[in-house]
Amino acid sequence: MKNSAASRSASLIDHLVRLSGMRKRDDLLGGITLALLETMGASKVEVFSLVHDENKRFWLPLTQALPGRSVRFVSDPMRVEHNMMSSIESDPERLQCLDRVETVASTPTPARSAHLTRFPMTLAEGATLWGVAEIESQQAVSQAEMMDVTRLLSMYGNMLDMLDYSECDALTGLWNRKPFDDLFYKALKPIEPTDSDHSPDGVEHRATTSPSNFWLAMVDIDHFKQVNDTYGHLIGDEVLILVARLLKTSFRAYDRVYRFGGEEFLVVLRSGDHDAAVRAVERFRTNMANYNFPQAGRITASVGVTEIVSGDSPAAACERADQAVYYAKHHGRNQVCSEADLVRRGLLKVDLKVGDVELF
Ligand code: GH3
Ligand code: MG
Ligand code: MG
Repeated sequence: MKNSAASRSASLIDHLVRLSGMRKRDDLLGGITLALLETMGASKVEVFSLVHDENKRFWLPLTQALPGRSVRFVSDPMRVEHNMMSSIESDPERLQCLDRVETVASTPTPARSAHLTRFPMTLAEGATLWGVAEIESQQAVSQAEMMDVTRLLSMYGNMLDMLDYSECDALTGLWNRKPFDDLFYKALKPIEPTDSDHSPDGVEHRATTSPSNFWLAMVDIDHFKQVNDTYGHLIGDEVLILVARLLKTSFRAYDRVYRFGGEEFLVVLRSGDHDAAVRAVERFRTNMANYNFPQAGRITASVGVTEIVSGDSPAAACERADQAVYYAKHHGRNQVCSEADLVRRGLLKVDLKVGDVELF
C-alpha cells in the first residue's frame, strides 16, 4: 500500500468526520467504500453483502471503488435479480472471511496481479455478519493497516446499529414507520446514475435496472384485541413477534416488512404482475392461518393489496390498501383483498384526483 502511516491516519480522521455526519444507509455505504479506498491507497475496493433467499446464501455485489472514480453502486438490493448474485461457494476465501469472522489475505496469483485482503462486515458488535469488504492493493496489507480497516469497519457497523435502533421496532425487530417513506419513493423512482466526474460527494448513485413493479400489502391481525383480553398482553406481544417472523419467512429477502402500528404491518413487495403479488400475499395469509400460536392457537389476518403506481404517495397507497383491508374485515376476515380487483368489480370507487378509493 502506498499511503504512509501519517497520511493514512489523516485520511482516516477525515473520513470518520464525513461518515459521522451521514444519516442514510446508502450514503454510509458509499462513504465507507470510498474511505477504505482512499485511506488504504488501494487499487480497488468492493463490498459484497450476504443475501439469504429460499434457504440458500448468495453474494450480492453492492459497491465498487476505483482510484480517481466515484464509488459505483453495483446493484440495488430492492431490485435484485438472481443473475446479479453468485452462490456463496463461488468464492471460498470470501466465505472463510465471513464464516470465521477473520481477515483473509491472499497473495497475487497468475490470474490476479494484486494482493486481495478481505474483511468481515458485522453489526450488533460482531454478533451479525452481513458482508465482506475486499481491498485490492499492489503491496501486502500490513498489520497496522489491517487494524485501521478493522476499526473503520467497526465504527461503520456501530453507525448502522444506531440507524437500526432508530428505524426498527423494538418488539419485533421489523422496520418501523420512519424509513417507509424513503423506501416508497425509491420503489417509485429508481435513482438515475449521475456523471461520475461531477458527483459532488464522490459517490455515483445506482444505475437503473430493469423496471419492476412494487406492491403494497397492509396486514391487520383479526380480533387481536380478543387475544389480549383472553390471554393477556404478554401473549399478545408474543403473537406480534411470531407474526413478524411469519412475514419475514413468507416474503422474499428483498421484500421489506414494516410494523406500522399496534397489530398492523406493511409489506413492500416486488412482483412482475398483479396476480403474482396477490399469490405471494396469499401464501403469507395461509401460512399464518395454519400456524398454531402457542397458547393462543389459530389467529388470522386480513390483508389489502395495492400497486404502487407512478405519481403515488405513501399516504395515498396506504389509504387504498387500508380500504381493501376494510373490505376484507367486513366480508369475513382471514382473506386477501386486492384494491384493483375490488375496483374492477365495482365494490370500491377510485377518486382519481388523489388516487384514493371510496367504499360503496
Ligand atoms: P379487527 O379484526 O377488526 O382488526 O379487530 P382487532 O381486535 O384486531 O382490532 P382493534 O383495532 O379493535 O384492536 C387492536 C388491538 O391491538 C388493541 C390493542 O390493545 C392491541 N395492541 C396494539 N399494540 C399492541 C402491542 O404492542 N402489544 C399488544 N399485546 N397488543 C397491542
Ligand atoms: Mg388494526
Ligand atoms: Mg386488527
